[in-house]
Amino acid sequence: MAEKVIVDLGERSYDILIGAGVRELAKSGSMLITDSNIEEFYGSWCGKLAPVKYVFPAGEENKTIQTIAAMCSCAAQNRLDRKSTMIALGGGVCGDMTGFAAAIYMRGIDFVQIPTSLLAMVDSSVGGKTAVDIPEGKNLIGAFHQPRKVLIDTDFLKTLPLKEIRCGLAEIIKTGVILDEKLFAELENEPDTLTVSPDFQRYTPIIKRCCELKAQVVAADEKEGGIRAILNYGHTFGHAFELLSDFKISHGEGVALGMCAAGEYAVLDNRWSREEALRQKHLIAALGLPTELTVHYDTGEVIQAMLGDKKSASGKINLVLPTRIGHAEIVKNASIEKIAKAVESIYA
Ligand code: NAD
Repeated sequence: MAEKVIVDLGERSYDILIGAGVRELAKSGSMLITDSNIEEFYGSWCGKLAPVKYVFPAGEENKTIQTIAAMCSCAAQNRLDRKSTMIALGGGVCGDMTGFAAAIYMRGIDFVQIPTSLLAMVDSSVGGKTAVDIPEGKNLIGAFHQPRKVLIDTDFLKTLPLKEIRCGLAEIIKTGVILDEKLFAELENEPDTLTVSPDFQRYTPIIKRCCELKAQVVAADEKEGGIRAILNYGHTFGHAFELLSDFKISHGEGVALGMCAAGEYAVLDNRWSREEALRQKHLIAALGLPTELTVHYDTGEVIQAMLGDKKSASGKINLVLPTRIGHAEIVKNASIEKIAKAVESIYA
């Protein structure tokens, strides 16, 4: 039996179905888009989903406008029209790009998300943010375009490398810190079931909770005029670390480090208790994610990178800061001095 969450957006509302084997509920589409790793694992199964298949080389470095142009050419060569549906089978990179191609091909066609990474299951496949990177920054070109359906099959997690499981866990911790104390406590109670010897059944309720919370936030503020920005907790610091490490620090690791730095800022700013910030740090470490930066970056460079993030506005850095586990607030025009102290606090 699949679990169901509805993203309530009027006529653009859609269902998220979650559970083991849910992929079998997928209806065939016009063009399937996937990456080279997924093709290796699931090529024979996914061939049945659509008459046209486009496979791009796996990796964030291929999340480019050039890949989108190639996808759209493939769609045109195979005569996809306005009634066609694209299917994204893959992680966040595949979902973000398929969604963007679907948003712009013939000024917008339907697409369905079948996320295969934990990060995509708990975060990127829901909410309709689609994008590609350019050398100047991540996700700088994109569109809001909601999927028609999201099918989350936890069986895909069986082939996902542990490092990638951990990246998804970083977003789950984030969700707990900003929105749900109970979810956070559940993670604290069973770090090993989630990482060392993963019980994939256990993931279904956790993924469902993350989707419910994200669906609520997206329904309240689809285009990020306000409250949706709290989902960026840890990301402004995190994107800077990713960028400065030349992406040797992965997205999930960046978010983990970013939450440690943002947590420290919140403590310095007297918004959050030292005890709870330590609880956060312990959970991040227990789930195998980094809590310390092992390479020393110039603090000025970190701040410049944060200013370059698309969430910064007119030379000012906005931060999402927890006030207690399960609640966070958006703080505009953060103090550069405290940002510097927060970054310095997480050097090994
Ligand atoms: P990814 O898509 O690159 O997947 C990570 C790696 O895991 C890839 O090598 C992929 O091939 C592999 N993989 C995925 N599923 C697998 C499976 N079942 N078995 C074996 N290997 C598998 O990256 P990601 O971590 O899923 O997503 C990161 C991206 O998501 C970033 O580009 C980020 O900007 C984006 N993102 C978007 C949103 C949004 O709201 N749209 C939110 C968060 C992150």
